[in-house]
Amino acid sequence: MWHRLQIVAVFLLPVVLVGGLYLLGLTMPVPVLGRDYVIRLDLPQPGERVGLPPVEGPADPSRPLVVIDAGHGGHDPGAVGVGFREKTLALGLAQSLRDELLREGGVRVALTRSDDTFLVLEERSEIARQLGADLFLSIHADSAGEQDEVVGASVYTLSERASSEAAARFAARENSADIVNGVALAGRSDEVSSILVDLAQRRTSGSSALFADLIVREGEGVLRFHPQARRSAALVVLRAPDVPSVLYESGFVTNPEEAARLSSPEGRRRFAEAMARAIRIYFAREAGA
Ligand SMILES: [Zn+2]
Repeated sequence: MWHRLQIVAVFLLPVVLVGGLYLLGLTMPVPVLGRDYVIRLDLPQPGERVGLPPVEGPADPSRPLVVIDAGHGGHDPGAVGVGFREKTLALGLAQSLRDELLREGGVRVALTRSDDTFLVLEERSEIARQLGADLFLSIHADSAGEQDEVVGASVYTLSERASSEAAARFAARENSADIVNGVALAGRSDEVSSILVDLAQRRTSGSSALFADLIVREGEGVLRFHPQARRSAALVVLRAPDVPSVLYESGFVTNPEEAARLSSPEGRRRFAEAMARAIRIYFAREAGA
């Protein structure tokens, strides 16, 4: 009995105390420290689409759509050289390419970012997927650290090993409400999902390789390439299983001469013309395939 009273007292005492204070018109001070700091995060609802950039060019949705992604942005400058930052250089090249494609017409274009904002890697390829892009091009510039004599552009595709890993991960995603090549994965078994993703990714990596080769071919004599221009790596930004994706390292910001050239109107024009040509030939080939 005494124990029971003790237990009741333990629970009731604070209530009685606070109630008593309230009745007496007294309040207990709340610690002041930290009260001014309120962190609000606007989290998208599951399945809700992230803000998609506008699609420019012809209104006809049957026209091919290329999504151009200027690397880095916002608090992330990317590679930094003396007086040059990758995020700015990449955005300049991306905008020149967009302008060139729109000027010639026939191709729809969207930029993942058109100003100095930061996007996480997954968001970039996800924008391409959600827009139903036919091609994704991520534009970057490299750093060679102290070796400021290193110059030249390289063209990256997703390495094969990384491709299958990405496919496995993609298929295993818990929220499998995704759609790959128009086929909804939801409700399908993991095995079927991974086969579908694998098939999509195989076709995609073939197309990515074709586009990468065309960039090197069309850029020859116009753009300055690194001796080993064609490369593959496990790049997160290239992991969309159903959008052919290429990452273009335009050159080295750590080489002042190259950085200046790539930032100049003339350098941007040369890049935009060669790249637009590669994009058009790619779409013509894919349409004929
Ligand atoms: Zn970069």
